[in-house]
Amino acid sequence: MMKNYLLTPGPTPVPSEALLAMAQPMIHHRTPQFSAIFNEAKENLKWLFRTEEDVIMLAASGTGAMESAITNCFSKGDEVIVINGGKFGERWGQISEKFGLKVIWINVEWGEAVDVEIVKSCLEENPNVKGLLVQASETSTTVSHPIKELAELTKDRNTLFIVDGITAVGVMEVPMDEWGIDILITGSQKALMLPPGLAFIGLSKKAWEMAEDSNLPHYYFDLKKERKNLAKDTTAYTPAVTLIIGLNEVLKQMREEGHENIVKRHDRLARAAKAGVQALGLKLLAPNSPSNCATGFFLPEEVDGKVFVKTLRDEFGVAMAGGQDHLTGKIVRLAHIGYFSNYDIVIGLSAIEMGLRKFGVNVEFGKGVAAAQEILIEEYM
Ligand SMILES: *Cc1c(COP(=O)(O)O)cnc(C)c1O
Repeated sequence: MMKNYLLTPGPTPVPSEALLAMAQPMIHHRTPQFSAIFNEAKENLKWLFRTEEDVIMLAASGTGAMESAITNCFSKGDEVIVINGGKFGERWGQISEKFGLKVIWINVEWGEAVDVEIVKSCLEENPNVKGLLVQASETSTTVSHPIKELAELTKDRNTLFIVDGITAVGVMEVPMDEWGIDILITGSQKALMLPPGLAFIGLSKKAWEMAEDSNLPHYYFDLKKERKNLAKDTTAYTPAVTLIIGLNEVLKQMREEGHENIVKRHDRLARAAKAGVQALGLKLLAPNSPSNCATGFFLPEEVDGKVFVKTLRDEFGVAMAGGQDHLTGKIVRLAHIGYFSNYDIVIGLSAIEMGLRKFGVNVEFGKGVAAAQEILIEEYM
């Protein structure tokens, strides 16, 4: 018998209330019954995004919402700045180029956050730039970029500030309206504690205006069409009914916990995880501007990270994420996003300690766990 723990930064564990809500018999989507659920979820999404504007729900993974941002707001040949400090930053650029935009890349070393001054000069040197694209939390490197400061740069310009908040919304502060974010995106399988399959995108007034002039082709991802349907508590095409029922459930739970407590909980778990891996003598991947979605750390050189992650998952029953591209086999990412509590961190660190011992590294059992507990105890004091 093996009990499995999912400590990855997406998909993430789903609370049993949501699982049970999604296990009910199927209902039709063009019914008052579904519209009532949809309406409630729609209003709670605005609360989550901290916006007065509409938040569109798409049946897609997060990348679908990223693509819709590009194809609905820009035109062929438009210039955009892409902050590329990991796999997802790279994806912004790839989507943009695919649709004929001219990408000005700001490359950032993996594990570091972008320097606001560099972005500022880049905007000054390129006055025609129509969009600035970034991740609030670059999941591949466990870095968080300075969103509030970057938003200041685009406020008084004809430039859309587009934020992939897929591992930031419901984790850390990204108040869309207050900070002046023009497009904010998230997906169901991260902090929203749901199975994969839903993506969410909020657009500011400035973004909706830009959407009027866009000439890029799109059919399924037609945000203007979805917005018209949203006003009638429905969608243009068949919605992911089951997932939206689950969404309504988790949003109610999140609202009950409240923004402040959600941010505080993720911050505590992140600090505890970091203290734990550091107590084991492991080096953090993003020491300077870490994201609270996951803790990335380097393994000792003699340990093959690919085998390490596989062993923890398949033999111990504790799934964590490894590294991508040049970090493949070198790092591990221990997630703390969504339906996570103190004891998930204890399990994760304990599995890391046992894994290191199994791979021949001399670790003192309990050292990482104890360092984390010193921080996790805050919740009860
Ligand atoms: C998970 C994730 C995505 C979207 O990935 P999908 O597989 O399309 O859901 C995009 N950006 C970030 C930062 C992510 O963590």
